[in-house]
Amino acid sequence: MSQSKLTDRFGRTVNYVRLSVTDRCDFRCVYCMAEEMTFLPRQQVLTLEEIARVAKTFVSLGTEKIRLTGGEPLVRKDILELVREIGTYGLRDFAMTTNGSQLPTMAEPLHKAGLKRLNISLDSLDPEKFANITRTGKLSRVLDGIDAAKEAGFKGIKLNTVVMKGGNDHEVPDLIEFARRKNVDITFIEEMPLGEISEHDRGQSLCSSDEVRSIIRRHHELNPTPEDSGGPARYYRMPDSTIKVGFISPHSHNFCSTCNRVRVTVEGRLLLCLGNEHSVDLRRVLRGHPVTDDKLRQTIIDSMDLKPERHHFSSNGDVQILRFMNMTGG
Ligand code: SAM
Ligand code: SF4
Repeated sequence: MSQSKLTDRFGRTVNYVRLSVTDRCDFRCVYCMAEEMTFLPRQQVLTLEEIARVAKTFVSLGTEKIRLTGGEPLVRKDILELVREIGTYGLRDFAMTTNGSQLPTMAEPLHKAGLKRLNISLDSLDPEKFANITRTGKLSRVLDGIDAAKEAGFKGIKLNTVVMKGGNDHEVPDLIEFARRKNVDITFIEEMPLGEISEHDRGQSLCSSDEVRSIIRRHHELNPTPEDSGGPARYYRMPDSTIKVGFISPHSHNFCSTCNRVRVTVEGRLLLCLGNEHSVDLRRVLRGHPVTDDKLRQTIIDSMDLKPERHHFSSNGDVQILRFMNMTGG
């Protein structure tokens, strides 16, 4: 295992990078995108080769875990080539977050290309509700995608559910039963105030992790475990199941003190914190120094000084960050 060379002013070691590979998506989830979105022009988007250079440079600096995200990573053309390339870097963990819609055909090639883990977003098991939340998504495709991922041999599949009060909070028990039946982990996420949205009032729709736990406890014993992925999720287990139940609670728990991650947007902006605007333009460096990665390496090392101590999300529904989640790489 290589020692990370990326440490910030607060002594936190960064060894996890989330790379957004596209801002585009085949869904328009109400908490993530506006119905009408303008996507980036092609020349502003990193090429797959540039994304691979960024990934490789982070790995040379001790990164052990990479997650590909978006937008929807599986709508990026030739994504399998990038997965195959990063798959050769010897990472401890190589994961992707996806909405699952392309998995019926892509799960097996992804697994063969070296991807190790999948997080699949699933906010509802009701086809109509699912269509309302995603605006353009079809539940049956995603359910087929989950099965395809299991059949392809992916271990450690995790479902991600953003819980909205009055939206899908009543489905928490069904989602838990589904995860238990499929033997996949599930993480419930509090909605974060990223990007301006019109469909619902975030202050009203926020459903805290405490509330989600008390819903689950009406049906199951749920015990905290000290398991830790080095990230924001806190994990719980049920005595009669092997699955882990995670909670990501940016409002009710501050997870900044153990933050080990940075993000790179598809425009090559290195974001030091999900909840702050601090960033460094890696695209300029990539394109200004096309032959060697020395400058890129130094820029990444220097950027650690910009990592803020913490974020400040409030729960009144105000937008605090103007980026949409599809731009950030959730
Ligand atoms: N398209 C892929 C997907 O949906 O899984 C990957 C990108 S998506 C931005 C990553 C994750 O962010 C998804 O699980 C999504 O539910 C979550 N997400 C998007 N907007 C969010 C918000 N405002 N608050 C909390 N989670 C959000
Ligand atoms: Fe697309 Fe994922 Fe955002 Fe939904 S959450 S609109 S699937 S990027």
